[in-house]
Amino acid sequence: MDVSYTDESGLYELVDAAQDRLLDLEITQDKLVIRRFMEELVSDKGLAAYGEKEVRHNLELGSVDTILLSENLRNTRAKITCSNRSCDFSENKTLVPNAPPQGNCLKCGSPLQVADEIDLVSDLSKLADESGATVKIISSEFEEGAQLYQAFGGIAAILRYKTSHL
Ligand SMILES: [Zn+2]
Repeated sequence: MDVSYTDESGLYELVDAAQDRLLDLEITQDKLVIRRFMEELVSDKGLAAYGEKEVRHNLELGSVDTILLSENLRNTRAKITCSNRSCDFSENKTLVPNAPPQGNCLKCGSPLQVADEIDLVSDLSKLADESGATVKIISSEFEEGAQLYQAFGGIAAILRYKTSHL
């Protein structure tokens, strides 16, 4: 690489080149962690989990070593409550973007409402942090990253030890 340091455009070139290399490095690390997951998936050690339900179950058990989350995930995790103020019904649910909760309260039949809502990625990252798991947000701008989203729902985990399936 030939970079001129004598003027500002040379400096920009230098910064651009450094950013390109950082991006390459990130993608390489993403690829390596996906490869680790794939290796666990095909081995018989039972150290791979995927899909929100299985991965959340393992996060709650504290058995996740590394969680892989696609940056394409747009779902939210919501606390759903009853619109009837004298009713104490509440549940946590994953929602697709811009979709109100379906159905009525199981206790009193009143319409349901969203009381609190955060990104699914933030919700799962928080659970992962609490159990000391490593969080990897995976770009979809390369083939394996796109596969993580399409084939595994954008949520996968490498486990510390084998757990029973849900
Ligand atoms: Zn209710």
